Amino acid sequence: MRRLFLFCLVILIPSASPALAWSTKEHIQLTRIAIERLIADPATPSEMKAWLRDSTPGLRDIDAERAWFMNQRQGINPRGVDGICFWCVMPDVETFQQGREEKKVEPFNVPERLLHYIDLELFVTGDQKREYRHDLSRKPKIDDIPHDMKDPRFVQAGMLPFRVEDCYRKLIGQLRADRLYDKNGQFPRDEHAAHWAGYLAHYLEDNTQPQHATIDYKSSAYFADKRKAPNVHAQVEYMMADDENADHMSVREAFWPVFVKDLDEVKDPITESKDLFRATLEVSLSSYDALPLIGVAAMKATNQGGTPEHPQGEASDKFDTETFYAARGEFHGKEMSVLEMKACQQAWAVKRVERLFRQAWDEAQAK
Ligand SMILES: [Zn+2]
Repeated sequence: MRRLFLFCLVILIPSASPALAWSTKEHIQLTRIAIERLIADPATPSEMKAWLRDSTPGLRDIDAERAWFMNQRQGINPRGVDGICFWCVMPDVETFQQGREEKKVEPFNVPERLLHYIDLELFVTGDQKREYRHDLSRKPKIDDIPHDMKDPRFVQAGMLPFRVEDCYRKLIGQLRADRLYDKNGQFPRDEHAAHWAGYLAHYLEDNTQPQHATIDYKSSAYFADKRKAPNVHAQVEYMMADDENADHMSVREAFWPVFVKDLDEVKDPITESKDLFRATLEVSLSSYDALPLIGVAAMKATNQGGTPEHPQGEASDKFDTETFYAARGEFHGKEMSVLEMKACQQAWAVKRVERLFRQAWDEAQAK
């Protein structure tokens, strides 16, 4: 739900969840878990722990996180959430609130919504068509993507890697100025480290959603009738965690233990940590490889006939979320379900947030 019909959401259907990346509920929880893990880590400096604690009301243990995941209804707006976890959903909320008159964000000179993704196909070289292909043949190499905001392709492709750099720098600036969170007498009131930590977490988390790396962000390539294709973006994101019309409890129940196990086992494999532009691209390029698994699973969930390269016939109007999450395929050489892929990508998001919060803190101390 990135390019079109953004304007009606907050006003007309305030209870529906967005599909601008992981849902409001998921962003809040991924960020909060990253903070809880940093606080539990003996290697985290005590002053950093104090900052995180003071900036995050409602910290809890992992069992309480499970109960929250199973039962909490959130919707678009971050009800009952404050501090870093409030700020971590504002990039999406801002986009919904803008309506038709989208204001440009500086220094990018594009509307907020373009800061949440990078459509990799725009950077493929040669005269190949810029489109998504099931065989991933339209995936560029990392060096095909210039670290140059002026390159006109970014206006269409999105600017996620630049925004990650930007938030990281702003977070360090606020930490160095000792503006840790909102305080009486400190102005501007909303300009502080908790704000930029939340923003940074948001974009780092969007980075691991595979559909935020492709021009085919709803996986419509897998449907014969592209116009009537289901919103697979929403299925990957909020449907199983915070759907207006169903709770999908069996999917949530199956998801949670896999996610918690991945929190312990998944490593952040990014080697390049100083160059955040390149690191963000590495995450996008790796996440991109999950798109065939997602597409084929969406075909199964709707009884779309034909092959992934040539879908044929009519798909069902009803999208079976349970079938989608149970569908299996290959991702990075391993056979797994969509549910396992999502758990792994979200655990990776938590790891990215932990790592960059800590890195920013250390860099701020080393004035
Ligand atoms: Zn987003």
